[in-house]
Amino acid sequence: MAQNVDWKNLGFKYMQTDSFVRADYSNGIWGKLNIYKDPVMPFHIAATAFHYGQAAFEGLKAFSRKDGTIGIFRPLDNARRMINTAQRLVMQAPNEELFLEAVKTVVSNNREWVPPYGTGASLYIRPFLIGTSPHVGISPSEEYAFIVLCMPVGPYYKNGFYPVKAMVQEKYDRAAPQGVGNVKAAGNYAAGMLGDIEGKNEGYPICLYLDSAQHHYIDEFGTSNFFGITKDNVYVTPQSSSILPSITNKSIQDIARDFGLKVENRLISVDELENFVEVGACGTAAVITPVYSIKYRDRTFTFGNEHEAGATVKRFFKEIQSIQYGETEDRHGWIVNL
Ligand SMILES: *Cc1c(COP(=O)(O)O)cnc(C)c1O
Repeated sequence: MAQNVDWKNLGFKYMQTDSFVRADYSNGIWGKLNIYKDPVMPFHIAATAFHYGQAAFEGLKAFSRKDGTIGIFRPLDNARRMINTAQRLVMQAPNEELFLEAVKTVVSNNREWVPPYGTGASLYIRPFLIGTSPHVGISPSEEYAFIVLCMPVGPYYKNGFYPVKAMVQEKYDRAAPQGVGNVKAAGNYAAGMLGDIEGKNEGYPICLYLDSAQHHYIDEFGTSNFFGITKDNVYVTPQSSSILPSITNKSIQDIARDFGLKVENRLISVDELENFVEVGACGTAAVITPVYSIKYRDRTFTFGNEHEAGATVKRFFKEIQSIQYGETEDRHGWIVNL
């Protein structure tokens, strides 16, 4: 029951809510959206999602705003990204209209689970797409299930907005240059887990990955994009064929321009880390994680103060959150009303 949720002490973990939605693709068309309650569903044991990784997902959030309404952050960007992922994995994706309808329906049917304004929490929405046809010979599924579930989540880092230590993980590569790192394939997460876990065991909550071909240019953190701020107030973020185009990063770039910073999307050699005065990791779950240091081979680069996020990163975080919570005008048209 939503009434029993302790909104101020939510973590980032699965919680069963009232219902989720599902639509199925078969015979060349998408069927209608249905509402389900039981989170356990039967799937064919030979489904392509299980054997050959035809599985894609998305992540976005809905917020209770200051004026009492509920807003969803940039859902059409997620819809478009799922369409790109599906193309790369030879899957059928829902169109933008079905995607948006599914997201709105799941939020609307779980209104009680949207954390109240002022708690710092939000409703995390997880759309995913899987190939469901049985195939043992390798060929794309003819049938797909598109499912959207949601759950209330707290701020990703419970201890607050504090800088973390990162390391460059070179023992494993995350994504090949012309591979699937630029789409939200479920398998990318399995590929990155061991490196991230070994990094954590060495005392680094997040790992930074370099381009897999040369180990020379910065790609991204395990599950979030990289950006750095130079002493001349330039926002620099990598250009690479193997990183996921983060919607959070795109939004922060717009905010950076609003604040008068110059924005550069370009190759960033790992040696350039010494030029940054602030570094952040960005993605929907945590929004921004300030990074205090990055260990690379026998060197450690540091950025600002170990105990406090830098002024620019803090300002970006506050601005994006206040747009999400409806405290600042949505000047870029990012919010879709429920
Ligand atoms: C989802 C994801 C991100 C963050 O993207 P957002 O749209 O900002 O949530 C960054 N990196 C990877 C590898 C991801 O899968």
